[in-house]
Amino acid sequence: MEDERARGRCLCGAVTYAVTGELREVINCHCARCRRFTGHHLAATSADVADVAIDDAEGQLTWFEPVEEAAYGFCGRCGSSLFWQAASTPDRLSICAGTLDPPTGLRTVEAWWVSEASDYHQRPALPERDRE
Ligand SMILES: [Zn+2]
Ligand SMILES: [Zn+2]
Repeated sequence: MEDERARGRCLCGAVTYAVTGELREVINCHCARCRRFTGHHLAATSADVADVAIDDAEGQLTWFEPVEEAAYGFCGRCGSSLFWQAASTPDRLSICAGTLDPPTGLRTVEAWWVSEASDYHQRPALPERDRE
């Protein structure tokens, strides 16, 4: 696509995607759900859903909804963590930043829900947010 901003894919390549619009800077989410989903923390950018074209010809993209307000998208074949979506913002799609083809041109700008990070994790110096 001519106005393509970025491309990405899962480890096995069954799920690929292209983004045409703006990508938000990366936020690390340390919440317990994201920690378990990714095995560490969710480093995510985000885009308008309308700007993301997902190619999933084999139907491997699988959504897991641990709670009503959040859904996690992963590849059913290789298990790669790919997407996160909040029910409150259905027009936005969070994209696991590590699945983007580098260079992404993005920076990590904040760490969220840091009190739920595991004890082994040494967090880089980033502005932090936590639950109230
Ligand atoms: Zn895959
Ligand atoms: Zn999270």
